Amino acid sequence: MGKVKKSPWLLHYDGSSCNGCDIEVLATLTPVYDAERFGVVNTGDPLQADILMITGGINQQNAPVVKQLYDQMPRPKVVVAVGTCACSGGVFRECYNMLGGADSTVPVDIYVPGCAARPESIMDGILKAVALFQKRSDEHDQYEKEHKGEARPVDPSINTAHDKAKLKEMEGTADA
Ligand code: SF4
Repeated sequence: MGKVKKSPWLLHYDGSSCNGCDIEVLATLTPVYDAERFGVVNTGDPLQADILMITGGINQQNAPVVKQLYDQMPRPKVVVAVGTCACSGGVFRECYNMLGGADSTVPVDIYVPGCAARPESIMDGILKAVALFQKRSDEHDQYEKEHKGEARPVDPSINTAHDKAKLKEMEGTADA
């Protein structure tokens, strides 16, 4: 990982998990593994967050929450799926209310496998997320410099017709 200009703030959301990965994330963020030594700050506020870390799978109940957290985060942003459940739905995949992994609802950039994911793997995922965040920030700054005053096109990964239809479907309000 090269030099980073800003310490990214990390938001952790635990979906429908067994809490195994959740506990490993806490171990990673607290002093034993100490992710903060790489400049990552843990936050509970999506409006301040740059990296969204998701553990557990996505079901019909938590999908709108995950989507809302993602949409509330400012751009640029990075999403990390931690553990087999967040990567694919894992052991809960075939359950009646499951939609799948985190990428069933938001675009995922980095997948950290494992059941439970080890803190060393989670740390690796965080460092990759920091590097990707820095790259996106540089691109963002470059764009702003070249297009001063112009409205930025909507990020194709959010609020697309596909996403809106999917959300309606999840909430049971889809057009007949
Ligand atoms: S990947 Fe394994 S440890 Fe992690 S939430 Fe799923 S079942 Fe639990």
